[in-house]
Amino acid sequence: MSPEGTRSGTRPEAGPGRIVYKFGGTSVADAARIRDVAKLVTSAPTHPVVVVSALGGVTDRLVAIAESIRRGNDLWREILPELKARHVTALADLTDGDPEARRVLDAEMDAQFRRVDDAAGRSWSGRDAEFTDEIASIGEDLSARLAARALRACGALAEFVDARQVVRTDDRFGRARPCNDDIAALAAKLLTPLLDRCVVPVLQGFVGATADGRTTTLGRGGSDFTAAILGAALAAQEVHIWTDVDGILTGDPRAVDNPRVLSEIGFEEAVELAHFGAKVIHPEAAKHAVALGVPLRIRNTFRPQEPGTRILASRRGTAEIAAIAYKRGTVLIKVRSIPSALPYGFLARVFEVLARHGLPVDLVATSHSSTAITIDGNEDLRLVEQELSTFAEVGIRRGLATVTVVGHGLMEEPGTDVRIFWEVSRTPVHLISQASDVSVSFLVDDDRAPDLVRRLHTGLIELRDEEGRSSVQ
Ligand code: ADP
Ligand code: ASP
Ligand code: MG
Repeated sequence: MSPEGTRSGTRPEAGPGRIVYKFGGTSVADAARIRDVAKLVTSAPTHPVVVVSALGGVTDRLVAIAESIRRGNDLWREILPELKARHVTALADLTDGDPEARRVLDAEMDAQFRRVDDAAGRSWSGRDAEFTDEIASIGEDLSARLAARALRACGALAEFVDARQVVRTDDRFGRARPCNDDIAALAAKLLTPLLDRCVVPVLQGFVGATADGRTTTLGRGGSDFTAAILGAALAAQEVHIWTDVDGILTGDPRAVDNPRVLSEIGFEEAVELAHFGAKVIHPEAAKHAVALGVPLRIRNTFRPQEPGTRILASRRGTAEIAAIAYKRGTVLIKVRSIPSALPYGFLARVFEVLARHGLPVDLVATSHSSTAITIDGNEDLRLVEQELSTFAEVGIRRGLATVTVVGHGLMEEPGTDVRIFWEVSRTPVHLISQASDVSVSFLVDDDRAPDLVRRLHTGLIELRDEEGRSSVQ
């Protein structure tokens, strides 16, 4: 089966009261939090499917381990014991008073950690991304087992189900795509019978496997995507993404002082926000859930009484600026056709090179003979630069950030553009891009971005909210 399958836009009958709960890294950071998650799950209105991320910060460490092994240095031997200790502490806490459960879980966790040494001892020549997935997946392999244990200790019927048996993907390691039809069949075979017996299945987010059983991952932050994939496969009534904030906010809480929770947001806006830096939801999760008709809600694990943010398939009504996002580490590539080059087909050539190297483009601005493109600073540019240089002059500039205003009907409302550009007018801008109806982005020097974000948030959102309040009084 090809990735994605054939189900786009269609949706089977909603399963009886199916819901999917996904808990992010901060929600399962240690034993105490995992226990709180278990309590939250057992008080759910129906038995949910539970998807968990790795304990907060663990995936970063595993990726560093993979990098160290690949480079042939010994850093990983320092990181691994610290990771083991953290998980063993959580395990001891969650199995306190139940030596048999501790023995079993201890053996399972040990087997997971041994995979690092096993993988380090094998040859992965030419398969770097596959190797990284093999190591990075261990975080969720551990956390999902801990979460299942915590649920059982809470009195729930809960079973760990290896996501590799359900989340079938293609073999694009590091950013694998789901095979939706296969996943629907596997979920019906493996998850539905458990749910019918009131057992809570607990699966790893982020992790999948190819048809021949090789471990893949869905990309960083991909546990949200897993929740949406399973929600669609089970025709769930709702998918709840439980995190550490009250929902999608009008601005990144680390950048603005008074962000407000949005009770709802259109999916296109959510996707733009996520794409341009708001980590709170993975863009593919929002796209997938909406394409397959699964309602998605973002909620706070630590304040479950709050209603959170609903992601709507479409948003109508008066135009409104919803939120400001920003993303650091942006790289600007300027490509100018050399005078002797053919005047036509230039853009096609540029994009063909980028596509062949799988380089995702964020922003684009173009004129007759030159094109400016931005990409994420973590991407490896060396080969692309070499190839572009064979037919164009290439300039690369780093140390930039993308600041994005997201809203619905953004440029339809007369005067909105003036207000946005007024706030931006004191900041030197390297590129402006407004390709969609719901976002406009500005490329600025990295050190100016936080100030611009604050200014836009105050000028476009806080002041508007105040005006709204005073007009009601
Ligand atoms: P999890 O571990 O639950 O997946 P993430 O760290 O991936 O959580 O995403 C939640 C974080 O996203 C929040 O703690 C917040 O700092 C950040 N964030 C950035 N922009 C926004 C926004 N507009 N709304 C909400 N959170 C945001
Ligand atoms: N643990 C993975 C990551 O850190 C997936 C996730 O948290 O969603 O990227
Ligand atoms: Mg996340």
